[in-house]
Amino acid sequence: KQLKQSSEQIMKGRCPYCSMQCSMELIEEHIIQRKRFKVKPNKQDPTSEGRLCIKGLQAHQHAINGERVKYPLYKIDGEWVRISWDLALEMIAEQFSSLQQEYGSDSIGVYGGGSLTNEEAYLLGKFARVGLKTKYIDYNGRFCMSAAASAANATFGIDRGMTNQLTEIADAKCIILAGTNIAECQPTIMPYFRKAKKNGAFIIAIDPRETATTKFADLHIKVKPGTDANLAMGMLKVLVDEKYCDETFIAERTKGFEPVLDQVNQVSVATIAKQCGITSDEIRVAARHYGQAETGMIFTARGVEQHANGYQTVRHFLNLVLATGKIGKHACGYGAVTGQGNGQGGREHGQKADQLPGYRSIENETDRKYIADIWGVDESELPRKGVSAYELIEKIDREEIKALFLMGSNPVVSSPNAVFVEKALEKLDFLVVVDMFISETARMADLILPTTSYLEDEGTMTNLEGRVVYRHAERKAPKEVKHDWQIVCELAKSLGKDHYFTYEKVEDIFNELRQASKGGTADYFGITYDRVKNGGVFWPCPDSSHQGTLRLFEKSFHTTDGRAQFHIGHELIRSEKATKKYPLILTTGRLMEHYLTGVQTRRSQELIERSKEPFVEIHPQTALEYNIENDTLVRIESKRGSVIVKSKVTESIREDTLFAPFHWGDFQCINRVTNPALDPVCRMPEFKVSSVKISPVQPV
Ligand code: SF4
Repeated sequence: KQLKQSSEQIMKGRCPYCSMQCSMELIEEHIIQRKRFKVKPNKQDPTSEGRLCIKGLQAHQHAINGERVKYPLYKIDGEWVRISWDLALEMIAEQFSSLQQEYGSDSIGVYGGGSLTNEEAYLLGKFARVGLKTKYIDYNGRFCMSAAASAANATFGIDRGMTNQLTEIADAKCIILAGTNIAECQPTIMPYFRKAKKNGAFIIAIDPRETATTKFADLHIKVKPGTDANLAMGMLKVLVDEKYCDETFIAERTKGFEPVLDQVNQVSVATIAKQCGITSDEIRVAARHYGQAETGMIFTARGVEQHANGYQTVRHFLNLVLATGKIGKHACGYGAVTGQGNGQGGREHGQKADQLPGYRSIENETDRKYIADIWGVDESELPRKGVSAYELIEKIDREEIKALFLMGSNPVVSSPNAVFVEKALEKLDFLVVVDMFISETARMADLILPTTSYLEDEGTMTNLEGRVVYRHAERKAPKEVKHDWQIVCELAKSLGKDHYFTYEKVEDIFNELRQASKGGTADYFGITYDRVKNGGVFWPCPDSSHQGTLRLFEKSFHTTDGRAQFHIGHELIRSEKATKKYPLILTTGRLMEHYLTGVQTRRSQELIERSKEPFVEIHPQTALEYNIENDTLVRIESKRGSVIVKSKVTESIREDTLFAPFHWGDFQCINRVTNPALDPVCRMPEFKVSSVKISPVQPV
């Protein structure tokens, strides 16, 4: 008892790792010289309802990891040298200013992340446009949410991840999970689906591989990667032919159905089944269950979205929602299952190339004027639309962008065609990375600025439901580590722009964000810190007496005429197919134990022990054909690069497909192989369809 000492600190935390934003209580005990953490889920949390997955239980481990960057680091002759904050900020200001003088404002790029808080995302967008006056800002959410976001905007006139609260799932009688492995990626969401199943729901999972989610489903459609849009079109054909469409809803609440009907009448379920590598029966069974069900919900995630057809694919699924009228009512709706911790809020407040805060458009004159007034600048000074994340890297490669300010992202591992990305970043005159760790990208930086962890960081996050929640800062940041918002404000000061960034605390930034979002589609004006500290508020929330919008589209959609827009399918892009040289299709995804590029989760002992290294799943027949044994080293190669990982021979994957997780870097980085073809609308890369070959690695 005497050994057990002294102090015990109880903290409230919010897991940083996915869009569920589960909350927890952490107890930090100090026992002599040692610290020990106990983590307990928060039973009062209205979303996670007292649940945490393995990642949440271990999240504190990265925050206390000894490898954290503790002070600014400057690289001299390949060696990191500790420097003061004053010097670091002065050097950045000098470098950026002299490059801009020589090459113009747009010679500096800014690259953000979907794990930043709403306040940080907002501030980064403002810093790029007002502090640096560059149009080149985008973020890693381009690789995450852009397809679902653009599809929802085009269909409904608004993009909120889920149109309904999670609690409504329990009453949905048919649920389609398209390209989402929620059981492993957002495990605490599963009880909502279990309740639905218990209440008689029929659950359909669409995925080229067997996962914990497909095993839970009643029907698993093991579709060929890249053919999900065809599958949705096939299902619509069945809904139309077998009269499951809601004609009143179509007539009163939508537009554009007639031309879609013409298209549907020209396709055959048998042909589509062949394209998708499945049976006609699977399409029919899925469509009938969804069509017959009184209530139903469709969820999409990166499996169907990370394609050069990502925008169209989601829109084809939304056609099913509109055709059956399953939206705007209890237990009827659509959800894009957000991946990143603030995947929703991160895309609403201006770190996207084409957006201003509140989901305003950077090309709309009224929106520009409104934001310019809030920021105290002339509208003509605001830069115009820039380019998407991958195109920004292409501009670096072409040496049009000379320096990059990067916050909360690791593009050397997360971008497609990673070998090219690494070579492009090498061309930068000056790279500044704000991170907690020396990530694969930070390693290439000239300067690293250390930032705070989720336990030290205050702010708001917007979860997958569109609920704005509060993140407590309960632990003191290490002495020379600063918050992202402080870094941005101090850098603005070094650039002589401090009068635009006069915040004393995080709440001041949020209050400006509320004003900036007022009247926009993502309207946060009625949401205050006092309100979010008590369970969260759903946007849109136009004033403080508004309770927040729990369910969207009950009476009308957010389009100018209030009607939702059907999607007329265009020719689908097939950027890569199996060829003689590259006969297999590689698809990628997440594992339960890791988050994004693993910078945080690979620094958590428990998570590494559970999932140490990457692998590639290969079907036994395919393994036999290519002479590959289980648990041996194999090389996966595309025309862009190669990677060496261990084989996992399993029947859970299609014979024509390989699957590999994307949480590792360097020679284990699967994105060295993936395909950077971009969606023409949302600029999402084709991560999920890359033609590759596989071969055993001979021992030397
Ligand atoms: Fe919750 Fe997601 Fe964190 Fe797991 S990873 S604890 S589901 S927020």
